[in-house]
Amino acid sequence: MAQRNLRIAIIGAGASGIMSLIKMRERGLTDVTIFEKAGRLGGTWRDNRYPGLSCDVPSHLYRYSFEPNPDWSRVCSPGPEILAYLERVVEKHGIAPHIRYDSEVTRAEFQDGQWLLETTQGPQGAFDAVLVAVGVLHHPVYPDIAGLECFAGPSFHTSRWADGIDLAGRRVGIIGTGSTATQITGAIVDEVSHLALFMRTPQWILPLPNPPIPEEEKARYRANPELVDDTYRRYASDFNSGFASAVVGAAPERYAEIEAACKGYLASVRDPDLRARLTPDYRVMCKRMIMSDNFYEAVQKPNAEVVREAIRQIEPQGVRTADGRLHQIDVLVLATGFDTHRFVRPMTVIGRNGRSLDEVWANANEGYLGVTVPGLPNWFMIGGPNSPIGNFSWLLTAENQFNYAMQLIDRLRSGNVREIEPKVEAVRAFNAAVKAKMPDTIWASGCDSWYVDKNGNVASWPWTYEKFEADMREPVLDDYEMV
Ligand code: NAP
Repeated sequence: MAQRNLRIAIIGAGASGIMSLIKMRERGLTDVTIFEKAGRLGGTWRDNRYPGLSCDVPSHLYRYSFEPNPDWSRVCSPGPEILAYLERVVEKHGIAPHIRYDSEVTRAEFQDGQWLLETTQGPQGAFDAVLVAVGVLHHPVYPDIAGLECFAGPSFHTSRWADGIDLAGRRVGIIGTGSTATQITGAIVDEVSHLALFMRTPQWILPLPNPPIPEEEKARYRANPELVDDTYRRYASDFNSGFASAVVGAAPERYAEIEAACKGYLASVRDPDLRARLTPDYRVMCKRMIMSDNFYEAVQKPNAEVVREAIRQIEPQGVRTADGRLHQIDVLVLATGFDTHRFVRPMTVIGRNGRSLDEVWANANEGYLGVTVPGLPNWFMIGGPNSPIGNFSWLLTAENQFNYAMQLIDRLRSGNVREIEPKVEAVRAFNAAVKAKMPDTIWASGCDSWYVDKNGNVASWPWTYEKFEADMREPVLDDYEMV
């Protein structure tokens, strides 16, 4: 059957965009371009360069299904190794010429059945479909604390690390206690003279040993690729069926195990006063679970201090807390997280009938199955609203969503369909089901986190991972308007 060779734009050369470009080219789509805002690929693994950076999802799970890697150095490999993996995959598949760097998409407008794109380099012409692979965790949140700009020493957000900064022998303050701050704390505590960790809210921490993978094991993986796949499947079942089911209330026994492990690790803190200060007052996994093999050990070192008093202001010499004390600091690290709800923005997106995405998402980011949005024909997302984002492999989620989107793109290729978008009724029903199910999940059990938007909507997938996979297997075409 004759097929249209669609002109497709992918936005973002992070892990999802790279995978999408490879898979589209494998399917014979030759006119596909990635527009990347930065001068290098890698998304989060390019932006984050802080000490201790690693992925807390085991590397044999955090990889593309089509690119197993026998050589991972650790159970959870360091960030630079993941970046090198992505670069290797791009080279191996010869897709580098199809990535346009320093090209941030500033505007996308649907006109006469096509998307007109503009980047920071100027107008890019018309595209038959757009695949958004911009990622979720990349708009830094800077804390709204008086005097922040007066600090005399270096001060930066963790995703804008001051490359080459020497922390040896210096007094370092870290504001925030999420996954990022936890990794940095363990990595720098032995090097700095004093570490003050400003902890507004303590977090639950699951102990996860992260030993190097011995050379003999890597050699076995190299000799027998089946073993790599076995390890992948084992982790996939552990994390997807285990973790993902536990958070949505579908695996109470697994939840109880995770809860016991977190509480056991907390109990290892010897000083009862410090232990009390580190104890959260909300349920395990309500905020995104942190994994660590060294955090409580690090904060018990004599040069470390966990500060629970509220921050009153930043002064040139340090951080003044509500009790009047000035914590003198040489370097201030802002581990204050990301605005996940600005997804796709600040790009201007104008859909059918001149309606902007800002208007459609004024109260909440809502789409259909995390992939499509009503009023935005031929617009597909990886990691859109209510995608499963949690303690498992984003790469797996991305591949599932890509396969779903690709089946819709295939309808466009067939030549019988020019425009495809979800029906408003289907989208309403999906979002009503999300809202009805969300109270069963742990995220809605009473805490603040980056999953929750300003109106209290939780941005994640409230069902099991198995349901997600099943829903992604094949689009229900009746739920789509096709012209
Ligand atoms: P985060 O989990 O959102 O943590 C932000 C921290 O900053 C919280 O402790 C928050 O306190 C604190 N904070 C924010 N504003 C503050 C203020 N004005 N005053 C005092 N404290 C303030 O951010 P993150 O640690 O960067 O992690 C974000 C996500 O990135 C993770 O959950 C994870 O999904 C991903 N990540 C993954 C890995 C990995 O290994 N895979 C590593 C790092 C990050 P409150 O809790 O009180 O709001």
